[in-house]
Amino acid sequence: MTTVLYPGSFDPIHNGHIEIIETAARLFDDVVVAAVRNPQKGAQLFTLEQRQDLIAASTAHLPNVRITMFSSLVVDLAKDVGADFIVKGLRVVTDFESELMMAQMNRQVSGVITMFMASGPQYGFLASKLIREIARFGGDVSSMVPPGVAKLLAERYGELRRQKGEEGAGD
Ligand code: ADP
Repeated sequence: MTTVLYPGSFDPIHNGHIEIIETAARLFDDVVVAAVRNPQKGAQLFTLEQRQDLIAASTAHLPNVRITMFSSLVVDLAKDVGADFIVKGLRVVTDFESELMMAQMNRQVSGVITMFMASGPQYGFLASKLIREIARFGGDVSSMVPPGVAKLLAERYGELRRQKGEEGAGD
């Protein structure tokens, strides 16, 4: 049985991520999607628990996918879940530069091999950060994320906008 680990921030999960997970689920017996809190990416929108729930709801059609959260090194997690490989998605050249270094470092320290999957052309521009930006200003992201994610984004930012409006009104 081959297991692959797909780590990321997934704040929130979007259709580019789903494509990678669906392809991995065809190639491997067991796919472990792991949501991490990445301090380099600044303030998080959703908690790890919320992100995990959104990933679970968005991949419910894939029986060989399981979800976990982590705050340790990716290579330690790979060992813990018994992963033979790590999979990463590539959108643009800048992804490749940082991912290649990480892949080689991870291989050096643990021997675990990283595989890269090119994103479909329709997903190359998708990034959680951009999706958060659009949703923050009330834009429509329903073509970029699973329905449950679009709903929660609208709720979360609607609530934040209301709070801001109330604070403004009180000034
Ligand atoms: P983002 O960059 O959207 O915040 P993450 O940090 O959660 O995403 O990324 C987790 C993994 O998913 C990384 O390997 C990243 O390259 C990959 N990924 C992100 N967006 C896409 C996309 N649109 N298509 C394919 N892979 C992607």
